[in-house]
Amino acid sequence: MGQFAVIGLGRFGSAASLELMRLGHSVIGVDINAKIVNQIADQLTLAAVADATDEHALKDLNITACDAALVAMGESLEASILCVLLLKSMDIKEIWVKATSKPHHTILSRIGVSRIIHPEEEMGMKVAQSLSYPMVNQYMSIGHSLYVVEIKITEKCQGISIAELLKEVKDSIDPLLVRRKKTIFKRIEPSFTLEMDDSLVLAGSLNALKTIAPRLA
Ligand code: ATP
Ligand code: ATP
Ligand code: CA
Repeated sequence: MGQFAVIGLGRFGSAASLELMRLGHSVIGVDINAKIVNQIADQLTLAAVADATDEHALKDLNITACDAALVAMGESLEASILCVLLLKSMDIKEIWVKATSKPHHTILSRIGVSRIIHPEEEMGMKVAQSLSYPMVNQYMSIGHSLYVVEIKITEKCQGISIAELLKEVKDSIDPLLVRRKKTIFKRIEPSFTLEMDDSLVLAGSLNALKTIAPRLA
């Protein structure tokens, strides 16, 4: 269980802090707006009304003891940067920051933070990929154009085997597992036959995955 500080409890910050709580962590939430803090207070370990650019306020809240901080004051460049500088001076190693503009990103990368997040762009790309490949439920990029994807088996390819599905790309795609209701099948053989509503998890190159896409939907 970790201890996290979430600074800025707008839509992004509040969603992140609630999910951290759900995952079993302790979360100190900070926002300058009392109304916002009151709305979420009973769902966090501690929620405080404070100006995150005020060093004493952050120290009083014991932010120094946190393992990681998420700074989610996207709209205010000044508050975001000042807060990040304070957190760095308090020696918090893991600082993740939501950025909303190019200059914001540039400054953050110069100061050096663990991760810069662009929710609108990242989500926009995810949505485009889902629109383009609706059968892909989830995917993860693992670098070098390699992906792990979870595919929902529809009527179109029920009854076909893994060997048929992957025929010309079997060297570029590895079937990792199939989930059928509550059962997980590992070490999938080429003869494994897919059924409707199976979740198939594959790892492979983007090009190979694109090749089999028309077969799936
Ligand atoms: P959203 O996640 O809703 O898209 P956003 O990235 O657009 O948020 P803002 O709405 O500007 O960013 O700020 C998020 C939250 O941060 C707001 O609830 C705001 O009250 C809070 N905030 C802004 N400045 C400060 C500050 N100096 N100290 C603490 N909280 C602040
Ligand atoms: P972002 O993705 O940047 O967070 P947002 O969800 O906060 O955007 P807005 O910035 O209000 O939403 O609007 C997004 C875009 O939609 C803007 O570029 C705006 O010009 C455009 N837009 C707003 N109203 C209309 C409209 N009636 N017709 C067409 N485009 C519109
Ligand atoms: Ca916003």
